[in-house]
Amino acid sequence: MLIGIPRETRPGETRVAATPETVKKYAASGKHSIVVEAGAGMLASYPDADYEAAGARIVDAATALSADLVLKVRGPTADETGKLKSGAILIGNLNPFDAAAIESYAKAGVTGFALEWLPRISRAQSMDVLSSQANIAGYKAVIMAAFEYGKFMPMLMTAAGTVKAARVLIMGVGVAGLQAIATAKRLGAVIEASDVRPSVKDQVESLGGKWMDVPYANDEEKQIAEGVGGYARPMPPEWMARQAGIVHERCKAMDIVITTALIPGRPAPKLIKAETVAAMKPGAVIVDLAIEQGGNVEGAELNKVVVKNGVKIVGIPNLAATLATDASALYARNVLNFLALSLNAKTGDFAVPKDDEIIIATLVCESGQVVAKK
Ligand code: NAD
Repeated sequence: MLIGIPRETRPGETRVAATPETVKKYAASGKHSIVVEAGAGMLASYPDADYEAAGARIVDAATALSADLVLKVRGPTADETGKLKSGAILIGNLNPFDAAAIESYAKAGVTGFALEWLPRISRAQSMDVLSSQANIAGYKAVIMAAFEYGKFMPMLMTAAGTVKAARVLIMGVGVAGLQAIATAKRLGAVIEASDVRPSVKDQVESLGGKWMDVPYANDEEKQIAEGVGGYARPMPPEWMARQAGIVHERCKAMDIVITTALIPGRPAPKLIKAETVAAMKPGAVIVDLAIEQGGNVEGAELNKVVVKNGVKIVGIPNLAATLATDASALYARNVLNFLALSLNAKTGDFAVPKDDEIIIATLVCESGQVVAKK
């Protein structure tokens, strides 16, 4: 089998779906040939020579994209899709909520696996690309906030006087939010955090953060807040209004706010209203990690740092790509672990276990058809 690793071509995408480390493992059985597009790992600091040393051949884009098994970070563009071979297997962040893109992969005759739809079961944890990349984004959000913030994060006692620790609010405590809490804590900030899912309170407190509670008015609200499969569901407008009121008051005291709230397949919930931004302290910084899904913060702009009443709002997308080397290393291992369901590293035998729940959940197109999901 020919395994292809093309260079990512979407704007700002620096990651690569296989590293020399994982290429070596794909090549180990001697049964498969690996082709890597020239420069595929360059922006992630993996030179072509390292891929060659690991057993790959360096090729052009068309050769990498027309392999039997194509490993991608992002779903192929229209141009890339045109180069895929009918009958090939395509693995990556295929953006399964983009029906037109999935339709185009189906039309190209490929069998597509969207890694965003990995089920949140313990067996799939080592393959979970959303987690590995969100972890990086949560870390980098804090570093970006520290960069934009005109004061220290930790409390300092100096001969020239005392400097107060920064107060940081984290909204949305999934994988990114937890890492943001841990990173801000290491920098010495005082942390508050909030999420719609009540199960997160203990995790926040165990990391040394204070839980910002938004009470539930009734059992129905509480049940919706539990979410499904580890993901949040949209909350009723009454709860959102209650949350906005509490957030408004707490934000007045905050130096840094990091928002990470997402609901799969929907626009990001708006958690910080324009009037809340207007009520914040000048010099405060907000980092909106949900910017690609429309943002959690009113006034945030994609690809920009905007200043409103002295408050900086950072809307830089795809923060994982700003740590391209580690992001690629973790992503590539996620892909390797996903492929281990089908590819026996020692013997090189390849067979997709079609009845495996991980395969069923991630399969988005096959035999020219889009695979419908419940
Ligand atoms: P996510 O990126 O989908 O969302 C980020 C956070 O935003 C979530 O915690 C969500 O509850 C929160 N949110 C949504 N609407 C909100 C609102 N209105 N106000 C405040 N917060 C809001 O989530 P994620 O990071 O992918 O992780 C979700 C959960 O799944 C986590 O608890 C994580 O530990 C768990 N998880 C489990 C596995 C596994 O068992 N295999 C793998 C990965 C993640």
